[in-house]
Amino acid sequence: MCANGIDKPSLQDIATICLDKFKSLPKTGKPTLNQWTVLAGIVEYNRKTDSLKVVAIGCGTKCIGSSKLCPNGYLLNDSHAEVLARRAFLRYLYRELKQEGIFQWDSKQKRYKIDDHLEFHFLSTQTPCGDACILAESDGEKPAKRKRLDEEASEMVYTGAKLIRDPESDVASDDMQQTPGALRTKPGRGERTLSMSCSDKLARWNVLGAQGALIDSLITKPIYFRSLNFCCSDAHREPLERAIFRRFEDKSFQHTRFQPQKPQIRIDNSCELSFEHAQRLDLQPSPNGLAWSLLPEELRPYDISVNGTRQGVTKKKMNTSQAASAVSKYSLFKSYQDLLCSNPKVSDIRSQNVLALEHISYLASKNLAVEYQLAWEQLKSCYFLQWTNKPKDLLNFTIRNV
Ligand SMILES: [Zn+2]
Repeated sequence: MCANGIDKPSLQDIATICLDKFKSLPKTGKPTLNQWTVLAGIVEYNRKTDSLKVVAIGCGTKCIGSSKLCPNGYLLNDSHAEVLARRAFLRYLYRELKQEGIFQWDSKQKRYKIDDHLEFHFLSTQTPCGDACILAESDGEKPAKRKRLDEEASEMVYTGAKLIRDPESDVASDDMQQTPGALRTKPGRGERTLSMSCSDKLARWNVLGAQGALIDSLITKPIYFRSLNFCCSDAHREPLERAIFRRFEDKSFQHTRFQPQKPQIRIDNSCELSFEHAQRLDLQPSPNGLAWSLLPEELRPYDISVNGTRQGVTKKKMNTSQAASAVSKYSLFKSYQDLLCSNPKVSDIRSQNVLALEHISYLASKNLAVEYQLAWEQLKSCYFLQWTNKPKDLLNFTIRNV
């Protein structure tokens, strides 16, 4: 067993199974020969049976500017691979809750308890945007031989993710200042997005869990990634560890339910595992977002989106629920409501709602996850002061005809 306590599954096991899963998906939506993308995956490992399976895959590089956001929850604002993989994972979890697959009802706690033998591991073919891309000289590592395509300074590997200005000070007067440890919104030309960088989102999941507010209210404990695996030539341990947990180590956050984790961070810089559609200077980024979840075929596990909308939707239907990706806020909220409607065990949660379910907004439902929301407020005040807030009217949508 290695120093950090994980010998199985190895990074190679995780990468191989994720890349094989990607290869097995239909060609539709995948990058063409002259396009690149990022692949992220989540695997479930059962310690008892020593078995490994992919439960979610996400591919994508795009993010929508703040002026294009959608008040109905249909649009995917953030289609970076890490974010799509995590949303595909939520889709998997909803199905497992509904089927009582990996979850069992705990009648004492009146919540679902996940199988004790399971753990989840995260993989990406690229360093997450934002803080993890910033290589400070003090990190004591030489930049990788093959430099990042967007690299510039000699001291630090450059990130295109934009620094968030601290309204209390004018220290960060330049959006592109390469300050290690700072919060950032998503990179991109032109208009600033309201989406936080993947480094910041991974750091948030590392404390609150990857399950989000809605699922958190249904389960006994948060779901964390046991290891984060990167198979890319430009990944560096120091900035990755800093981005995911070390930058917050001196700040105190104490909570009984949510605890900052120290996942194992594993890197393979060799090219053997490299992804066939990895970023290269001569390629264009693929405009598509892919999200695959481990689900039966009839539930259409493979979702393809373009500009945050389900692929193939006609212009006429653009502002209808038919445009919603299967991993959009709208669709995931619908899965949550379906579960509350169909499962008498979770009726306690349902009875907290004074209104009929179809009148409860997404925001109101998220706010019913009181424990999670209080922890998030507390966490923001000590770790994530500059986290962007989405306008509330973008979260006030309801699901009709449930
Ligand atoms: Zn990203």
